[in-house]
Amino acid sequence: MNEITTTATTPSTLIDLLAAPFIAGVARTGMHATPRDSAARAHAQGVEVSMALCGIRVTIPTVVFDAYDRNTPPRAWNGPMRVCPYCAWYVATDTGPDAIARELDALTPTGTLARLLPDPLIARRTCETIITAAQQPGAGGLDDGVVELLAHLSAHAPVLARPWECDDVQCDDSCECLHMAVCPACSLQYESGEQAGYYRPECTITAPCQVLAALAAHLSPPASNPPVDQIHDESQAERAATSGQVR
Ligand SMILES: [Zn+2]
Ligand SMILES: [Zn+2]
Ligand SMILES: [Zn+2]
Repeated sequence: MNEITTTATTPSTLIDLLAAPFIAGVARTGMHATPRDSAARAHAQGVEVSMALCGIRVTIPTVVFDAYDRNTPPRAWNGPMRVCPYCAWYVATDTGPDAIARELDALTPTGTLARLLPDPLIARRTCETIITAAQQPGAGGLDDGVVELLAHLSAHAPVLARPWECDDVQCDDSCECLHMAVCPACSLQYESGEQAGYYRPECTITAPCQVLAALAAHLSPPASNPPVDQIHDESQAERAATSGQVR
């Protein structure tokens, strides 16, 4: 078979020019990462679909593609975007300490979200505990099993729920409408219509959810983590305090 000759404007050549080892891909579930080689192969074959590190099929726009950066949505995407926690942790553990620090920073709430949570650092601290344990002499290192644990935990990290009803044109992260921290993995968002992206009142689960509380109770050292009973009491108290505001 003849060697495929490419010009400087073909997508695969452009991908080859990117120094980054991972390329951003998008799917209904948000932004993912795909290895550069996989992306280059897809482009050489003229397809816009590649396999992400987490195992799902993602779209890589042929014209405008980007190196994977967990803090920057691909240019072909408009607006804020969910970052796939599996791809994020695969990239971070493959890349090194600075990338791991970026994932931990993403789990560090500030402002209104930090004030709403009884234990703002619960997700970050538990991930740090997992990483420290994996890096001990004799432990397995940051292998796939560790990544799965970090990703599952991060998926349940609390976020602010913005009510659709807010009519404040200045609505931002300090708006009075923000009074609830929810679990994005346990809760359900509208996928279409004018309320797309907002949490459905039928399934808005207060954070920290039971998944996060269970992981923290099991993994965090007792000295830095409240007892299990206290976690349950606090989350129940918070649920009771906010249950009237969900609907
Ligand atoms: Zn992914
Ligand atoms: Zn608002
Ligand atoms: Zn959850």
